[in-house]
Amino acid sequence: MSDARVGLVIEDDHDIRELVRTVLSQAGFDVSVASSGAEGVLVAKTLNPDVITLDLGLPDIDGFEVSRQIREFSDAYIVMLTARTEELDTLIGLESGADDYLTKPFRPRELRARIAAMMRRPRSVADPSEAMPGDAAADSGAVHPERGNFSHNGLELSYASRTVVVDGKEMNLTRTEFELLHALLEAGRTVRTKSDLVRRLRDEDYDVGSYISEADERSVEVHMGNLRKKLGDSPQKPRWLQTVRGVGYRLAPGEH
Ligand code: CA
Repeated sequence: MSDARVGLVIEDDHDIRELVRTVLSQAGFDVSVASSGAEGVLVAKTLNPDVITLDLGLPDIDGFEVSRQIREFSDAYIVMLTARTEELDTLIGLESGADDYLTKPFRPRELRARIAAMMRRPRSVADPSEAMPGDAAADSGAVHPERGNFSHNGLELSYASRTVVVDGKEMNLTRTEFELLHALLEAGRTVRTKSDLVRRLRDEDYDVGSYISEADERSVEVHMGNLRKKLGDSPQKPRWLQTVRGVGYRLAPGEH
């Protein structure tokens, strides 16, 4: 068994496939490729990849369906590669289970940055060296202060076990949704702007001044909408996710 993380590129366009393969290889992944959706699902089942890049327009089944099928057995970080920016809203709104979206043409360094941010996040309870910040993770440089457990209005989040329980029921969140929820719980009543949250997803400091596009902010809005739906939260009378119009989000007040 190799220690390298496994990456899977599902893409029918040869040039893009090779470009993404190169980016992932340089990031230290063992990379496999698939040129159709059905093949991609099969390879994902066999290799249990850590990260998957998924083309939306595949020759057999589309990327949404591929993502849904992969989500049935995998918690891989899925980056959907899509053709046009204006489709972004629809794409994310479809709740395909993807964690992130990049529109083509994208710059290799954009993809690199997102993969790097993903690698700094704990993957799951199944890998205790990553799930326990400050423990073995210190050796890999992936050090986070104890991010802890939160409890608010009937919702409990455990960072170490990556679980969210609402009124006793465990939620099935994507990594992105989990990170957004965690960021709000951590901030309490302090407002997090959309760009703050974009940076959080990239695992950057809040004040580094890196470029945040409108599509990035829009994507936070849509992920937040999906998260709200999963939690059964109401935008009008929020228990957890309060929208601060034109600015961002914060945690709703406590019920007691
Ligand atoms: Ca394609």
